[in-house]
Parts: sequence; C-alpha cells; structure tokens
Amino acid sequence: MSVLVVGGAGYIGSHTVRLLIREGYDVWVYDNLVAGHRKAVPDGRLIEGELSDHRRLTEVMNDRQVTTVVHFAAFALVGESVADPAKYYQNNVVATHSLLAAMRAADVRRIVFSSTTATYGIPQNVPIREVEDQRPINPYGFTKLVIEQMLRDYQRAYGLRYAALRYFNAAGAAADGTIGEDHQPESHLIPIVLQVALGQRESVTVFGNDYPTPDGTCIRDYVHVDDLATAHLAAMRKLDADAAATVEPIEVNLGTGRGHSVQQVLDACRRVSGHEIPSEVGSRRAGDPPELVADPSLARQVLGWQPRYLKLEEIVETAWNWHRTHPHGYADA
Ligand code: UDP
Repeated sequence: MSVLVVGGAGYIGSHTVRLLIREGYDVWVYDNLVAGHRKAVPDGRLIEGELSDHRRLTEVMNDRQVTTVVHFAAFALVGESVADPAKYYQNNVVATHSLLAAMRAADVRRIVFSSTTATYGIPQNVPIREVEDQRPINPYGFTKLVIEQMLRDYQRAYGLRYAALRYFNAAGAAADGTIGEDHQPESHLIPIVLQVALGQRESVTVFGNDYPTPDGTCIRDYVHVDDLATAHLAAMRKLDADAAATVEPIEVNLGTGRGHSVQQVLDACRRVSGHEIPSEVGSRRAGDPPELVADPSLARQVLGWQPRYLKLEEIVETAWNWHRTHPHGYADA
C-alpha cells in the first residue's frame, strides 16, 4: 500500500514515517521543509513541494498510486496564530482544502488527520472525552476544527474516509535516539527545559503558578511521539478495514490519561538529566487552559490503541537521549 505523508519531515510525521516503513508500507513524504528537516526523512522518500500546489500533489498521488494520505502539515503555535491568524487560515485551512481537492482528483479516499486538543478550548470536564463541546479559544484551534468539519462534510458528500486524531502534548523522541524534536525557534516545554540542562539557556520561565491546580502550574497530558505514531498506524488499518463511508467517523483523543504540571515536568527533567535546571516564575501565557488531560478510552475502543509510555520520566529519558546527543538538533544528525 502506498501512503503519502504530508508534513512527514516534521516531528510527529517523521516518527510515523519510520513506523510505517517498518510495517511494510510504501511511504512517500511530501514536505516544503519550512518547519521539517531533510535529515528526518529516510533516503529517497522525500518529495519537496507545497501543499497548496494542487496539480503537483495530484500528479504525485497518481504517479505513486497513493491509497491513503496522512496529513501532518500545519502551523501549530497558539501565540503565533493569535498574532498572525491569516498565516494559519492560509496554511492550515486553505492548503488542506487544496490537498483534499487533489485527493478527489486522484481518487484517494482515505486520510488520517492531525487534530488537536486545542479544538476543545477550555473544557468543562477533565479528563476530556470526545463528547466535550469543541469551542476553540485561539485561531490555531479554529483552523483545526474547520478542517475536522470539512472532513465530516466530505465523508458525507464524497465518500472520503477519515480519522481525526486529537493529540494532547506530543513529547519524547525515538528510542534509538536518531530522530527527535527540533523546532526553530523552540517554544515547547520539555525541549526548552532540556536546553537549560545542556547549558544552552540560562533558565526556564514557568508561565504562571497561580492556576487552580495543586501546585499552581498548568497541567498537561504528555504523550510519547512513538505512541502517536502507533495510533496513526491503527487508524490507517481501521480505515482500510471499514472502507465504506457510511460507518461512524473516527474522531479520538490521543493522550495517556495522566496529567503532569509544569513543575512536575521540571522535576522529572532534573532527575533524568542530573542537572539543576534553574527556573523562574513568569506571567501566564495567553490562551493556556489550566488543565488538559485526555480520556483516551475511545481510542482504545475504536482503534485498539494504548500508549506504551505511561511514565513521564520514561518519556523525558527518550527526549534527553535525543537532545544530549543532538544539542543543535538535526544540524548534529
Ligand atoms: N510552558 C512554560 N514555559 C515554557 C514553555 C511552556 O511554563 O517556556 C508551559 C505552558 O504554559 C503549558 C505547558 O508548559 O502550560 C506546555 O506548553 P507547550 O508549549 O510545551 O505545549 P502546549 O500545551 O502549548 O501545546
């Protein structure tokens, strides 16, 4: 089976690509390398191109006889989406519209889509179940929600089959230490904390310690990137198994069901790295809900998916292994 992984040179995409190749799929990565890394893609698998290049995408799908698209290509920074929403609506919504048009033109009927906990906004109930209202509080979350709705409408009208996977906080790196997280500039908690451990930053700022949580810092559900990859494989298999478009949509949360505060992340990074890691408390970051933890039971039920990494320290160990051996990310690969 031939799979086109759009955005496959990025963090979660590259881990999924490795897994799909190991599982025997014929995998092609389509990426413009704006945020992705050439070195994250196995040799001979990369096709450089723009998501908005409808004709090129159609050609690629036809030439490679693609049967399934896995779609990771998106901008995903909440703060940036508030400052520059046009960038997000263009790159996430308009470009996905173009991708879906290319899929229709090439008669590709299955897509696994990277959605997000940000579609829930500030949830009424935690742990979050999929029945929770989706009321995003920032443009990033809205763009992902619009795409989910496009997929629902396209399934009904055109027989597209999709899985929308709502990630919680992706973390960690491949167990063999060869690929990992490398964002320029970095904004995510665990890589920033580990960069402090490496002496690349002086300290980490904790964004608020006056939240209504036990230690006052925000709680998130950190899920290992290889577990996210496994969920994509399970979703692809499910889409293949139930080819008819009349079956229930697949829209599931991907998290461990365990929440950890920023303070707990810091402590875990200190234990794993053996470094002191200076920190200071700063003001809250706009758009941060106090607590986001998944109820992952629907993913277990629908996809048979269960994360293998349940302990935060084990997730941090894989991240530390990557950052320690690649202090400058892919520049050291
Ligand atoms: N965070 C922090 N300091 C940082 C980066 C992040 O305190 O330098 C907090 C952030 O406010 C949130 C959590 O760490 O509560 C996870 O943030 P991240 O940006 O990694 O992921 P997000 O939850 O935004 O997807």
